[in-house]
Order: sequence, then C-alpha cells, then structure tokens
Amino acid sequence: MEGIAVGTLILILLWGSASLVFAIITAMLASIRHRFAFGWFIVGLILGPLAIIFVLMCGHKYICPYCRQPVDPIARICPSCQKELIPAK
Ligand SMILES: [Zn+2]
Repeated sequence: MEGIAVGTLILILLWGSASLVFAIITAMLASIRHRFAFGWFIVGLILGPLAIIFVLMCGHKYICPYCRQPVDPIARICPSCQKELIPAK
C-alpha cells in the first residue's frame, strides 16, 4: 500500500514540474509573439504541451494596435505604419 502512495506522489510531482516547464515555455513563446504571457502561463499549466501548439498556432494572428494590419508575430516594427511594436504585458 505504501509503495502505491509513494508512486502516486512521485507521479504528481513529475506531472507538476513538467506542466510548470511547459507553462514557462508557453509564456516565453507568447511574450516574444506580443501575447499576454501570464494568461498563456496559466494555459500552459492546464494544457501542458498542447498550450505550446496553441500559442504557435495563434502566433500568426497578431494585429498591429496602431493600424490594425496583420503583422509577423515576431516583428519589432510594423511594416505598414512603421510603429514600434511592444510585447503585450
Ligand atoms: Zn501598424
């Protein structure tokens, strides 16, 4: 019985640390793509590796806040209006 309990505890700890790593990676990816990093951190905690796939899929939908034109998610300067793009906080 005790062995099962320890095994379960190790499994929970492993799962917890793995989802924390996925959450950090997701938040970093979100941040460089001008996304709300903390929100994506929470998504990463819940979904794990799926959140990384989601943040990569959402990446191409970034809209310039100045001219409303779609821009490359990792661009620093908007190609349409030449404004500097600041990552969303
Ligand atoms: Zn623009």
